[in-house]
Amino acid sequence: MSTGKFPATQSNQPFASARTKIPTRQAIALISEHGDPAAEIGKDAAGGQNVYVRQVGESLAKLGWQVDMFTRKSNPNDATIVQHSPYCRTIRLIAGPETYIPRDELFQYMPEFVTSFQKFQQKEGTNYPLAHTNYWMSGWVGLELQRRQNIQLIHTYHSLGAVKYQSVSEIPTIAQTRLAVEKQILEQAHSVVATSPQEFDDLENLVSRLGNIDIIPCGTDVSTFRPISKVEARKQLDISGKEKVVLYVGRFDKRKGIETLVRATRELRAQLEQGEEIDPQNLKLLIVGGSDPQEADGAERRRIEDLVTELDLTANTEFVGMVGHDRLALYYTAADVCVIPSHYEPFGLVAIEAMACGTPVVASAVGGLKFTVISEETGLLVPPHDVAKFAHAIERILTDDIWARKARKQASARVQQNFSWTGVAIQLSDLYRRLLAQSLSGSGIARGSSATSTLLPKQVVKAS
Ligand code: UDP
Repeated sequence: MSTGKFPATQSNQPFASARTKIPTRQAIALISEHGDPAAEIGKDAAGGQNVYVRQVGESLAKLGWQVDMFTRKSNPNDATIVQHSPYCRTIRLIAGPETYIPRDELFQYMPEFVTSFQKFQQKEGTNYPLAHTNYWMSGWVGLELQRRQNIQLIHTYHSLGAVKYQSVSEIPTIAQTRLAVEKQILEQAHSVVATSPQEFDDLENLVSRLGNIDIIPCGTDVSTFRPISKVEARKQLDISGKEKVVLYVGRFDKRKGIETLVRATRELRAQLEQGEEIDPQNLKLLIVGGSDPQEADGAERRRIEDLVTELDLTANTEFVGMVGHDRLALYYTAADVCVIPSHYEPFGLVAIEAMACGTPVVASAVGGLKFTVISEETGLLVPPHDVAKFAHAIERILTDDIWARKARKQASARVQQNFSWTGVAIQLSDLYRRLLAQSLSGSGIARGSSATSTLLPKQVVKAS
């Protein structure tokens, strides 16, 4: 079992270490059944997976690969193929109706996704030798492909059922299927990419000990998210220098714990009312992120809005709506602290985006956040759900100026050194090259086609 460490050596030749000379670029497939990499970031339900696949794809193309990213077509008006750069494109496959389908109802369309993928290969006259799948349903697609053709399978979970279901009150009917498929992926993929040491432990302890796991983190665009002038950012956003800005960025989803942050803000204001250091009227909670009134995130947003009204926080709170990556750096920079109160967070891109801009983070001590945020150095980690501890941690950052300034520097340095997309792509590229070289030399572990697939055929689909 290898645990990749970065930085790794850079190479512009994906097959540099393989014996066979490849005259053109090697095509590889990234598969992301939901989480369309061509969706505009900050629009619709676009979250971390969209960002990951798109950034990894574009960065791999810069390293010399031909990257084809496959997703499900969820809108008839969307283009079937989107060319992002000369060697990187998104291909939208037909799998079920061309409309938005909630994740928990999507699995039944995965056999059609496999068929569409194979049809596309036929049309292009190619068989991808390697697929990197994202989220468990794409992983199922990868396992199916592994049974049908010679393909190296790499998988990133983005979210693990075994951990997620510990933190939610309602377990969906698809849960048993998901857990079984996640186990099968770990045991049969050529490599599973854990994005943090915590995920590595969760995979080993909660899913299966039979797996090849490489630890390669998520990244961030360090040219977009970098320290800029706070005064200038506040000027552009019309925020005065007096205001103490507490920022949330992300989706409206119960597991994101926005309720904890709102309640902590109420508690903090009550504390400020007792003292003289900060005028409670200058406390500002900015909630950045979009929602669709028709979908579940719309209901969560209304719940949070009602809570803000109930706690008499309307004057201190602003619901900003979705913000694209081009303007998001202004919000991170303008903020005094970015809060990530998630109950569960597999990685949490927002943490490294905020830190890259030099903004200290107060985050729940869960999942990937325990790896990215170094408590007392780049921010503070507190137990999830703990309103009082969140309030106290936010107050410390707002009032301890000297420490907060040090944390700002340390936060941006940590991201620049460890979490650039280029660094992440170099590690993935090295992994792909290693697996492809093994398959060419026949030294790889025989997986997939020889493995049993009893958990996977159609009866599982019906069970959903
Ligand atoms: N995001 C954005 N605009 C918004 C809200 C969120 O661009 O208004 C982006 C954010 O910058 C981050 C991603 O959505 O890149 C959220 O990823 P994260 O891993 O934090 O959470 P997930 O959505 O995967 O649960």
